[in-house]
Amino acid sequence: MAIQTINPFNNQVVKSFHEMTPQAVEVAISTADETFQSWRHTTYPYRAGLLHKVAKLMRDQKDHLAKLITLEMGKLILQSYGEIELSAKIIDYYADNGETFLEDQRLEPDFGEAYIKSSPIGVLLGVQPWNFPFYQVARFAAPNIMAGNVVLVKHASNVPQCALAIAELFEQAGAPVGLYTNLFLSGSRIDGVVSDVRIKGVSLTGSEAAGSSIATSAGKALKKSVLELGGSDAFIVLEDADLDAAVEWAVIGRMNNTGQCCVASKRIIVLEAVADKFLARFKEKLTGLRVGDPMDERTELGPLSSQAAALQLMDQIQRSVTAGAQVILGGNLIDGEGAFIEATILTGLKPGMAAYHEELFGPVAAFYRVENEQAAIDLANDSPFGLGGSIFTTDIERGKRLAEQIDTGMVFINHPTWTQADLPFGGTKRSGYGRELSRAGIQEFVNKKLIRISKVSDPF
Ligand code: NAP
Repeated sequence: MAIQTINPFNNQVVKSFHEMTPQAVEVAISTADETFQSWRHTTYPYRAGLLHKVAKLMRDQKDHLAKLITLEMGKLILQSYGEIELSAKIIDYYADNGETFLEDQRLEPDFGEAYIKSSPIGVLLGVQPWNFPFYQVARFAAPNIMAGNVVLVKHASNVPQCALAIAELFEQAGAPVGLYTNLFLSGSRIDGVVSDVRIKGVSLTGSEAAGSSIATSAGKALKKSVLELGGSDAFIVLEDADLDAAVEWAVIGRMNNTGQCCVASKRIIVLEAVADKFLARFKEKLTGLRVGDPMDERTELGPLSSQAAALQLMDQIQRSVTAGAQVILGGNLIDGEGAFIEATILTGLKPGMAAYHEELFGPVAAFYRVENEQAAIDLANDSPFGLGGSIFTTDIERGKRLAEQIDTGMVFINHPTWTQADLPFGGTKRSGYGRELSRAGIQEFVNKKLIRISKVSDPF
């Protein structure tokens, strides 16, 4: 894939970049490895100081950075501002809490003393997606740098200017060369980096295909991997839900980032008793979305990240319709020069149809009506993915009972699945493994070393 900024609002190429030569990759890895030898001995307060500077610079340059996101992948500008703020919060969060999260853990063995020390392991590779070009990097880089590791980041090929801007923030903050380094490489060349002996772990956020490829390379080289992959979150509305609020949240849950969130509310599952009412209001809200330039704060439906993404989504819609699904709203590309697709609602979906099993990465809601709560849970679980999910109900105990039956890494009651620095994020099934964010996210790439203190007279 060419490394290029292509503005999805008009599909014009804005800027092209060269891939790194094998020699440049070698320099990047060896510099990172050298930097690790000193970075691992820095103190937590020192690392925290650097991360706070990065977060501050990010906030200071919010306007410029948000516009880069919108230019390169089409996010609505107000949401791009939100992403920059969220990313800075995550960086500050690890600067503030990393030391506590990694403090020595005293054990209580049968006799004598023992404790677990968390030590950094070395150079890590992060392979990142375009859909949240700052947030995804923040949640990988901040905890690992705080833990004493150093990072190489292979960002998605369509957000090179965002990738460069993040590296510049570290440089401006005074980070040593090699602490944070971009690798401008196509996905096909990543295998060689993963297998390099100096790389100690790899984290990928992206599609199942990329995850499987990275996990295979990491497994062959006996390295730890963390995978944050796709999702098809169920958004369950019970008959006792606050219907107005549920509709509002369904629109946000499905349409945020033009539907291109791993945890978007992709499958709307509503109990029969309230399905007609819900659907009428949901359809009305989606119909009224203002389509336009994502740089314009008034726009409510922007382009997808690329023309290829729009065509792929259209193909999923068409395959589903051919198999018998009904389009009750939208279902077309929007005329013009950008990567636009209409807000769409599909119904009549059955097992075997594309939209039933596949991830719909755009403004397309799969709508289901079910007889009762058990049918809602069964349908929610009938998915290859296991990332997030939501339940809307006024009976919180009922919501908790159902949440415990959903096979995903996260379930939100009365809210679409979402993210914040202090909540763990990750999935199960084909949505991947491992966790990012919160206390859990900083533990993934550290050596949990046991230190045991014995008396020479202790038994064997
Ligand atoms: P993608 O095509 O898999 O790309 C993700 C990253 O992997 C990019 O940097 C890409 O590089 C690289 N890549 C692609 N093929 C590769 C390969 N064979 N080996 C190594 N690297 C490879 O995914 P995307 O379209 O950018 O992102 C959308 C997907 O990410 C969706 O499925 C979404 O649900 C998922 N996602 C998951 C989470 C989560 O936390 N679970 C969060 C956000 C997104 P190139 O750009 O150079 O191809």
